[in-house]
Amino acid sequence: MSSLRYAVRIETPARHTAEVTLRFAPTGDTTDITMPSWCPGSYLIRDYVRFVRDLVVSGDDGIQRRATKIDKATWRIDSAGARELTVRYALYGHDLTVRTNHIDPSHAFLHGPATFLYPTTHRTAPVEVELTVPDGWTVTTAMAWEPASSLKAANIDELYDHPIHAGVTRTLRVPAKVPVRLVMWGDRAPGGVFTEARLAEDLGAIVDDHIARVGEVPFEHYTFVLMLAHEAYGGLEHRASSVNLYHPHFGATRKAYEGLLELLSHELFHAWNGKRIAPRPLLEFDYTREAYTPCLWVMEGLTSHYDRFALRTSMRISAKSFLEKVLDDWARLMATPGRARQSLEASSFDAWIKLYKPDESNLNTTVSYYLKGGLTMLALDLQIRRRTESARTLDDVLRAMWQRYGAKGEPHPDNLQPVFEEATGLSLGDVFDRQIRGTEDPELGEELRSMGLELRTSADPAQVTDGAAAVWLGVTVAGNKVTAVFDDGPAHAAGVSPGDEVVALDGFRATSDGDLRSLSGARKPGDEIRLAVFRRHRLLELPIVLAAAPPTRYEIAGIPEPGAAAGRYQAWLGEPHPGAQILATVTTTARWV
Ligand SMILES: [Zn+2]
Repeated sequence: MSSLRYAVRIETPARHTAEVTLRFAPTGDTTDITMPSWCPGSYLIRDYVRFVRDLVVSGDDGIQRRATKIDKATWRIDSAGARELTVRYALYGHDLTVRTNHIDPSHAFLHGPATFLYPTTHRTAPVEVELTVPDGWTVTTAMAWEPASSLKAANIDELYDHPIHAGVTRTLRVPAKVPVRLVMWGDRAPGGVFTEARLAEDLGAIVDDHIARVGEVPFEHYTFVLMLAHEAYGGLEHRASSVNLYHPHFGATRKAYEGLLELLSHELFHAWNGKRIAPRPLLEFDYTREAYTPCLWVMEGLTSHYDRFALRTSMRISAKSFLEKVLDDWARLMATPGRARQSLEASSFDAWIKLYKPDESNLNTTVSYYLKGGLTMLALDLQIRRRTESARTLDDVLRAMWQRYGAKGEPHPDNLQPVFEEATGLSLGDVFDRQIRGTEDPELGEELRSMGLELRTSADPAQVTDGAAAVWLGVTVAGNKVTAVFDDGPAHAAGVSPGDEVVALDGFRATSDGDLRSLSGARKPGDEIRLAVFRRHRLLELPIVLAAAPPTRYEIAGIPEPGAAAGRYQAWLGEPHPGAQILATVTTTARWV
């Protein structure tokens, strides 16, 4: 099949536009050209064609051809008699995320599915791309290891899987078993002990840790693109690269730095799990419609578990820091009542309308397959270690999935219970029925106990007077606006509604979560308070009976006499059991009032 030849010119980056030309040989009297509605790794209909403008098509005779839209993303071109068609269009890109285009005088990030229209007759045709960028810019893409302006891909799917970054960047070599580079764009905030050199070194250890865990390298080389920008966060995985967005202060604190390591570790791990170990709809893409699967908990849960665990097994973070991250996730899960309504499988399937379309009711109806998925995989790993006396771990499951599916390019089935069971020699129906297909919480407390650790929950002593019980209203607020109401909480029973603007509690001005907390904090469960709110510009006063608040403080502590658990702990976290001491503390008061 004749190739698709694209030319992309970035000549007016200040206008956030790029000009694209596509040349190809049509195969019939009409030819449909289209652009994806979504992209792999991000489960939202984005309709990238929205950003295409000024589309003109001509034949090899230079005469303009009619191009008629037949659906939101597709033009039908009159191609009768043409040996070659030239499609010209401009793209507007001014959304700095890892899955949308961003073009400005400092750089251009071109996300394939948002950039390249393709003829539906040429889905498997080889692709060539010629790039023209401003002087001084460097082009980065995993399609070429050396900087190049001429790129080649085997087909449109491969082109879409290799995002292109062009701009003033710095490239750091990442010392690992295979060629890996870190290409950074954007200034980092000055100061901080965590330097870029250290980042490259730590990243190398994480790359090698992932490789050792799975036992095979799926790429010849790997490229991390890291864009630094304020108020931005995200990552998107590809088969030989990832695009990551993080704040410029990453070197300022240990927490910020480890957060960046975790992000990069996560996207890299997807090169195995997600990009190769994947269900059919995420290996054979239909870009026109949603790719439904009940298995995003595998893709994101397993990856969320290992992104963090690898930081510890590669000795980049302390065991304490690892436990803090686990506990932080646990506290977030416990603050999500939607976990009682939605299973991991349902959360996966409905990602398109729930996780990616959050609204005021999501709190009560949805659980993140990242969050619960990661903790479920952790608890399962601990269960496997306990039941096999550390002879088997979740790594055995990962390797089995790699060998059976990922390495062979075979999609995995929706039901992975048999693979988990064969790899561990254990029956795991309970976990799958109750925590993956069902809505029960992962048994983290029980499993931590088998590692000689105790998971404790309590009220935050800083929030309550001595001897008093903490109370809550059961709302989340932003400023003075109620953003969500917890089902069956005191505010819910009293008829408080998302969107209400809080003005007073018991006649005292209350316009922030802090005001609400201090005014209600001295009261007891069962006390009635009056909450004044504006709703559609009308003042309402709602009597609310306060209730005892859910726990706000979580701790992981070592137990005094761990016995056999001490050996399991050592096998798990690579250091001796810490004895009786508090290892991690998280308070979650700020999540609600
Ligand atoms: Zn992910």
